[in-house]
Amino acid sequence: MNYIEQNDPQVWSAIAAEMDRQQDGLEMIASENYTSPAVQQAVGSVLTNKYAEGYPGRRYYGGCEHVDVVEDIARDRAKELFGAEFANVQPHSGSQANAAVYLALVEPGDTVLGLDLAHGGHLTHGMKLNMSGMLYNFHSYGVRKEDCRLDFDQVARLAREHKPKLIIAGASAYPREIPHAKFREIADEVGAKLWVDMAHYAGIVAAHLHDDPVKVADVVTTTTHKTLRGPRSGLILARQEYAKVLNSRVFPGTQGGPLMHVVAGKAVCFGEALKPEFRTYIQQVLDNAKVLAETLAAGGLRLITGGTENHLMLVDVTPLGIGGKTAETVLERCSITINMNMIPFDERKPMDPSGIRVGTPALTTRGMGIEEMRTIGDWMLQGLKAPEDEKLHARLRAQVGELCTGFPVPSAALNAELQ
Ligand code: PLP
Repeated sequence: MNYIEQNDPQVWSAIAAEMDRQQDGLEMIASENYTSPAVQQAVGSVLTNKYAEGYPGRRYYGGCEHVDVVEDIARDRAKELFGAEFANVQPHSGSQANAAVYLALVEPGDTVLGLDLAHGGHLTHGMKLNMSGMLYNFHSYGVRKEDCRLDFDQVARLAREHKPKLIIAGASAYPREIPHAKFREIADEVGAKLWVDMAHYAGIVAAHLHDDPVKVADVVTTTTHKTLRGPRSGLILARQEYAKVLNSRVFPGTQGGPLMHVVAGKAVCFGEALKPEFRTYIQQVLDNAKVLAETLAAGGLRLITGGTENHLMLVDVTPLGIGGKTAETVLERCSITINMNMIPFDERKPMDPSGIRVGTPALTTRGMGIEEMRTIGDWMLQGLKAPEDEKLHARLRAQVGELCTGFPVPSAALNAELQ
């Protein structure tokens, strides 16, 4: 029985169309992924009906005995997965997790150092229109002009000059491994706390294929829906000494009742990430990204930093005589979804930047490998080199559709039951 279709055909038709879009196209937005059917079911479960303000064993509502079990499982698995002393699984999103960390570690007006948004940082790391930029005195570090790698000389110089209370590491569009110990050294020198926002590469950390921030940072936050492949949500990890203040800054600091259905989805996701298959998956994500980057570079595109060491690549499309907005539109016509992106030292505007950001986590979840990456890279190049040729785009769209039928999305069977 499809209750949505029966009760609300308008909403159902949009959901059904999205199911088709996810199955029929190539999802290459670096921050997206497909959950397993088990995660999807947990998020669609009766736990959405339950209020559970507080924490397991200390709730402000009755009837929490079962959701307590779920939250305990999620916390224990998160700690095991990342080797952390403390976990809070209640943040509704990455930004919510980050808001709680600010309230826990600094006071309004305090000085904070974070990566410039224009160099791959996230808006919660000090953008003027975000609460972080409104409430705290931000200074931004960036990447070096010559190789677009993190400029640790600049980080150290800014830290010595401005004496921040808090240094933030982590990025949304940086294609290289981040050496967290270098941030720790600088933080220690100036007496700052170190917070790592590993939202993009948490899955790679969980698979032990990326430098581990949990060992060196005071606090680590992440989203759970990117490389970690869980529901859209957030997570905070920390040393035990921060447990009390972080818990109180999540609830009641920034949130009311946790979304227990999403906490259940996170528990299932962490369970999946603890299995050996997850490491195999992440290794394939990395191998795929390398091959795709090589293919795009060989076709005349400029890879920022010259390549990738993680799940994403930042690609300057201007050598082909187009901008990021045109690239996004052309690829969309071919059923390839990516996002336009500023590149470091970009001379173009955010609404039509020089670059695109491309990632492999979602395609890898569908089972695609090296061979498919070469084919897809070639299709992308064909489309981008002929931005006006709509007939070619239609042909590429048909080829993409054909490829996709061989790689069903993980929830295909579950979705088919509804359709
Ligand atoms: N932090 C980083 C580094 C991110 O890349 C993102 C999302 O892209 C977030 C935080 C925010 O996550 P959310 O969209 O769940 O608020």
